[in-house]
Amino acid sequence: MIVLGIESSCDETGIALYNSETGALLADQLYSQIELHAQYGGVVPELASRDHVRKIVPLIEQVCAEAVMTLQDIDAVAYTAGPGLIGALLVGACVGRSMAWALDIPSVEIHHMEGHLLAPLLADDKPEFPFLCLLVSGGHTLLVDVQGLGDYTILGDTLDDAAGEAFDKTAKMLGLPYPGGRYIAELAEHGDVTRFKFPRPMMNRPGLDFSFSGLKTFTRLTWEDNQDDDDIEQLKADIAACFQDAVVDTLTKKCLRAIKQTGHTSLVISGGVSANLQLRETLKKMGQKHHFKSYFPDLKYCTDNGAMIAIAGAMRLEQNIPEKETAIRAQPRWSLEQLSPP
Ligand code: ATP
Ligand code: MG
Ligand code: FE
Repeated sequence: MIVLGIESSCDETGIALYNSETGALLADQLYSQIELHAQYGGVVPELASRDHVRKIVPLIEQVCAEAVMTLQDIDAVAYTAGPGLIGALLVGACVGRSMAWALDIPSVEIHHMEGHLLAPLLADDKPEFPFLCLLVSGGHTLLVDVQGLGDYTILGDTLDDAAGEAFDKTAKMLGLPYPGGRYIAELAEHGDVTRFKFPRPMMNRPGLDFSFSGLKTFTRLTWEDNQDDDDIEQLKADIAACFQDAVVDTLTKKCLRAIKQTGHTSLVISGGVSANLQLRETLKKMGQKHHFKSYFPDLKYCTDNGAMIAIAGAMRLEQNIPEKETAIRAQPRWSLEQLSPP
């Protein structure tokens, strides 16, 4: 089955073609609106919707050209139906449903975070169900017990900011571009991780929840209190290193706690922050010591993309082809736990 995946929940238009029989990604196109929103320091919803409208059809034409196919070769459409920005979601949902209707093929609504959760299945070294999953993105920080496709129990969540959001806010404070996660990681490479002692929020409390707002305040105070430093560039690097270390330490120790609690031996880490190399290295080492294996998406599938939506759609459609529908649905708020198996 050839599945067209459409992602438009936020500021990336991602379109992909996936062949579920061969497990091959046939084509994958991504247009990021980062430059459009950069001058505002964050995503402007109305501008995002308009840019999806401009880019979505050309990108669909591009994936067909890349795979040397026509629209008639597509067997099903999978599109992100939430959570995300309502206007942005509606663009993908309208195009996806309309195409399915016009081509007389099934369509399936995909939860954006299920897409992230399944993105590591696009890699060569794939996890098998069941597994524990850490979803760390711009809007989410979730520890999920994954028993199978659509069978998700949230074990831990953030009480305030998401991990990616904490990276972005710290980056903004240090004058780095948006989204700043990767710039913090770059700066941290030549920072002194021992210079400041950043807090590890929620570590000495039981449970699997996260909190990053206290860390954000601590980072801001450290930055403000050291403005008379002779070497501001080194100060930035040191803060970036200490901040990243605190986030990675908190995330990985909570993963270990969840591994011990659930008895899982596979850990899947996905979402934009899973591109972080220090996070990857720390989990790999921790896994060797504590007998679990970590799986990550390829770096290009950590952040939003159409391929993860295509594979999620293919996996669902393989188990169940839904009745043809003409209703267009998009849900800005939607919990992973509301999903069920196909
Ligand atoms: P959600 O999936 O929760 O709706 P989103 O789609 O905006 O949010 P993603 O695209 O998955 O989030 O990830 C973007 C986030 O990943 C940003 O916050 C960005 O700073 C962060 N990020 C990207 N690369 C890195 C990195 N190397 N280190 C840390 N954070 C990173
Ligand atoms: Mg994004
Ligand atoms: Fe995302």
